[in-house]
Amino acid sequence: MATTRCGIGYDAHRLAAGRKLVLGGVEIPHDVGLEGHSDADVLCHAIADALLGAMGERDIGHHFPNTDASIRGISSIAILQRVADVLKNGRGRITNVDATLIAEAPKIAPHIDAMRERISSALRVDLARIGIKATTNEGLGALGRGEGMAAIAVASVEQN
Ligand SMILES: [Zn+2]
Repeated sequence: MATTRCGIGYDAHRLAAGRKLVLGGVEIPHDVGLEGHSDADVLCHAIADALLGAMGERDIGHHFPNTDASIRGISSIAILQRVADVLKNGRGRITNVDATLIAEAPKIAPHIDAMRERISSALRVDLARIGIKATTNEGLGALGRGEGMAAIAVASVEQN
């Protein structure tokens, strides 16, 4: 009998000069980008953790350790493709993913559809199953000062 499982994921990265800004697999023109071992795609990382959590797996840091030189600079879309393999091997099927990006700037809305397309094709699921939203932190705290970005995601998976 199929069971429904849900998972949650959270991630945050600092912003720094001289880095590309990649969110949801989409490169967005901006004067700063997220710092990290990979492309630091905070949105994809939160989604990966939500899906791994729903499968009862350990987190993204365990599956893709930042001490592993072979994955230095790995595209986070490639991480999601590998997470899709974990789901397939565990006979899990994505019911839906919903994620919120928290960023003061730039404007995210024009890029949401492209992000959903990249993420749904990496996870090999229908576009309609992927929800992406964005909000600001209303100027509050480090996120509000634009020192970094964060993302939170939930995922629901049917497992046989
Ligand atoms: Zn991350």
